[in-house]
Amino acid sequence: MKKIAILGCTGSIGTQTLEVVRENRDIEVLGLAAGGNVELLEKQAREFEPRLISVWTEEKAKELRVKLQDTDIRVASGMEGLIEVSTMCDVEILVTAIVGMIGIRPTVEAIKAGKDIALANKETLVTAGHIIMPLAKERHVSILPVDSEHSAIFQSLRGNETKAVSKILLTASGGPFRGKREEDLLNIRVEDALRHPNWSMGQKITIDSSTMVNKGLEVIEAKWLFGVDVDRVQVVVQPQSIIHSMVEYVDGAIMAELGTPDMKLPIQYALYYPERRNLPGERLDFWSLGRLDFEKPDMDTFYGLKLAYDAGRAGGTLPTVFNAANELAVKQFLNREIKYLEIIEIIEDCMKAHKNMDDPTLEQILDTEKATYERIESRR
Ligand code: NAD
Ligand code: MG
Repeated sequence: MKKIAILGCTGSIGTQTLEVVRENRDIEVLGLAAGGNVELLEKQAREFEPRLISVWTEEKAKELRVKLQDTDIRVASGMEGLIEVSTMCDVEILVTAIVGMIGIRPTVEAIKAGKDIALANKETLVTAGHIIMPLAKERHVSILPVDSEHSAIFQSLRGNETKAVSKILLTASGGPFRGKREEDLLNIRVEDALRHPNWSMGQKITIDSSTMVNKGLEVIEAKWLFGVDVDRVQVVVQPQSIIHSMVEYVDGAIMAELGTPDMKLPIQYALYYPERRNLPGERLDFWSLGRLDFEKPDMDTFYGLKLAYDAGRAGGTLPTVFNAANELAVKQFLNREIKYLEIIEIIEDCMKAHKNMDDPTLEQILDTEKATYERIESRR
């Protein structure tokens, strides 16, 4: 039995990971952590019987302890609880399906404890890739991508020499506003932005997909996962989300991974790598598909993507500013405190004001996050 723990078990990736566990029957879930959905956590706890659960607030932890008092399951809370779940003895793979930079410390601690990481939490790699990747190498830990594009790249690299890669072709659906101009985006409401054409995901990443900031984060994520400069990562809009990404080699050959959009494929691939398992679900039928379309991304209208390239090229603390500004701005947009286009304006403003720092420590990254939040709060 493979032994895993999951951060963010109640979210979109977390629940799909548990579906993969349920269907395969040979994975043991030792630890679960989530924000505060106590009802779902109780259900998951009773079904998967982990040893340890963690929720964000102590108040929710108390609630959960009462609900689970007839079991032996221990309930922890806060950052301490997240780290405890991440470093549990016997766990082989930690699935990081938590949303946001809050995943940095637990991920770093898990690597130090020798756990392989099935990584969905891209914000962690975007902001601390220069710490995480060398640490993983030093501790002989694998970072297995769960993001569908990065899983596709990972699969397309198998059996080929990394030194023969000429570029990475990162596909994008273009989101719900593909083809729109800036003036069309002035009055976008939360409901409009939450409607993704091909994928059903958590709220933050759905907004990020609509602004193309998600693709920007993925460009930087690819830089760290595959050791390439961001300028060798080319974004290609593929509206049907059938090609999940590609790798071009020096001889012009292109390897790709295709399929119907289903996050369970990259999740299962990361959990069983290098083994491929059966996965029930719809298969791609080229006869009925008929065609695939491609476009160049519109980086003038969706200039969050351009800002991501700037941040990825500069490195240092700038990607943290890009990411932290986006995290808070998206939160404010979801709370209906700012307008849609302000998300990118805020990111740009914070990046312009920032004095970049090379090779930041974990503490400097977290300080930069805090300073970015303070700048945004002071705008009100
Ligand atoms: P989600 O919002 O559906 O779920 C987030 C999870 O994190 C929830 O379980 C929530 O309880 C937990 N969480 C949030 N704050 C927490 C806290 N303070 N302490 C403990 N737990 C906390 O998000 P998602 O769509 O599943 O995305 C998760 C991550 O995976 C993100 O980084 C996202 O970019 C990435 N990702 C998601 C998808 C997808 O299809 N959903 C695809 C690729 C990558
Ligand atoms: Mg993705």
